Amino acid sequence: MPPGSAAITIGSVVSVRRRYADDERLLCHEAEHVRQWRELGKLMFLRQYLGAYVHWRRQGFGHQAAYRLIPLEVEAEAAAERFAADPGGGGDDPLV
Ligand SMILES: [Zn+2]
Repeated sequence: MPPGSAAITIGSVVSVRRRYADDERLLCHEAEHVRQWRELGKLMFLRQYLGAYVHWRRQGFGHQAAYRLIPLEVEAEAAAERFAADPGGGGDDPLV
């Protein structure tokens, strides 16, 4: 796991540092990455992820700022925010 990271997702495998194991918001963030990996495939995921990171670094952003600007990270954070706002998850969804 990268130094300073709470968790990392490679494909459908989510590795989480022990002290974050009960952090449901974090797990929700990582679950979104699992979905992204599945949707994009390994090559596209890595290309988009690393491509965006390198792009923002070249624009002069520091590591943390560049990381937070990666669209796949923004998407995962949005999923985690939705979870934090409604931990029960989608209870109001209409039944179809
Ligand atoms: Zn992430």
